[in-house]
Amino acid sequence: MDYLIRGGLVTSSAGQFAADIHVSQGVIKAIDRNLAAELTGKTRIIPAEGKYVFPGGIDAHVHFGANSRGFTSADDYVSGGVAAAAGGTTTIIDMVPQRRGISLGKGLDQWREKACDAVVDYSLHPIVSDVTPVVLDELPSIIADGYSSLKVFLGTNDKQIDDYALLSILEVAGKFGAPVLISAGNSRVEKYFTARLIKDGKSAVEYFPRSRPNAGEVEGTFRAIHLAELVGAPIYFTHVSCGEALEQIAVARARGLSVFGETCPHYLLLSSDRYRLPNLEAAKFVVNPPLREACEQAKLWSGLGTGVLQVVSSDHCPFKFAGQKALGRTFEEIPTGLPGIETRLTLLYSFGVGTGKLSLGRFVDLVAEMPAKLFGLYPKKGKLAVGADADLIVFDPEERVELSPAVLHQNIDYSPYEGLELRGYPVLTMLRGEVIVERGKFLGRLGYGRFVPRNTFQV
Ligand code: MN
Repeated sequence: MDYLIRGGLVTSSAGQFAADIHVSQGVIKAIDRNLAAELTGKTRIIPAEGKYVFPGGIDAHVHFGANSRGFTSADDYVSGGVAAAAGGTTTIIDMVPQRRGISLGKGLDQWREKACDAVVDYSLHPIVSDVTPVVLDELPSIIADGYSSLKVFLGTNDKQIDDYALLSILEVAGKFGAPVLISAGNSRVEKYFTARLIKDGKSAVEYFPRSRPNAGEVEGTFRAIHLAELVGAPIYFTHVSCGEALEQIAVARARGLSVFGETCPHYLLLSSDRYRLPNLEAAKFVVNPPLREACEQAKLWSGLGTGVLQVVSSDHCPFKFAGQKALGRTFEEIPTGLPGIETRLTLLYSFGVGTGKLSLGRFVDLVAEMPAKLFGLYPKKGKLAVGADADLIVFDPEERVELSPAVLHQNIDYSPYEGLELRGYPVLTMLRGEVIVERGKFLGRLGYGRFVPRNTFQV
């Protein structure tokens, strides 16, 4: 079916203008005023007067079916995809753990079998944790196959790598045009403070932030920037959580280095006082990096406004409270990760655009356009333009929603944002010319979501 989205404010990083959008055969055919006059009978008209039309959101950092501390995260390609679409996101990039003993390519093929029911478009970031000569030899072909980014962990994790391994990955990635996503930390710092807290009997959740102090993230950020510079590789810091790490990125960018970064809504809106909540409630907020002191939030908002950070991702990795998070008695036993795929875009709109911290254009840049550009999806995705995929949302700035598990589609029994009032919400989500969510109701179909191979790094 053809669609005409009529009279909305079509928005990009450059600004907005009122226009009609004609969608046919999955792509945008025309964007202009008064296209309605040329319509044939088969076209469905979607009135959008008084509403924004945004490019479909791109969430560059999610985990579907991830493992943490013996638990598997609660959303898969179906429930997580429906949640993404309901919250205005039409493309996600999932993190794929490397499996020892099999090639990266085979591991990615197997992961894609899990995505056969996908309801939104997806791509994959391969995590590299076992850095052998065989794996390094395989990287160029992986990158050429459309997995044009690699993820590494520097902090404490069963996937952490050392500086020797990091340098060898950075060198190959830089040569073949793949940015390396870096989860910055310092595993020795984290192990040291964790051991000390446990020895002192301080294993309760309220001590969790002390086990992963800001300084570990800051040092890992500094180190990765300098190692990447040595071999000329573009890097991207995931989940930047504090002002000092942000300063490292700002200094590197001012020196002209290809250094980028994201933060996540939970670091912008929540703080470490949550770890002092009673009755196991604190467990709901265990995530890595930990929520930081409230004073860091304004610094992160400022980094989004000035462009030191380019992207807001969810780092969606939800564990249920009942039967998962609530079972942990010490901070080491609680699976780490928060839900966020469905609320990323709407929280950033309400608390960024709605408070005047972000312009509308900057908002679209952070949730769609820049992730598309940095991760090789542009111009097919990330911008409303003739010839691009018809991935879009009609967004009503007056729609009011109070967040609770009941209004969300995520397969999870709590929301870290429960009770927050949002003003502005998507009322329709379209993926490649098909309406997949309308007024919160999923109308798409299993398996409609496609794997999107990505181009190499061009920013
Ligand atoms: Mn993550």
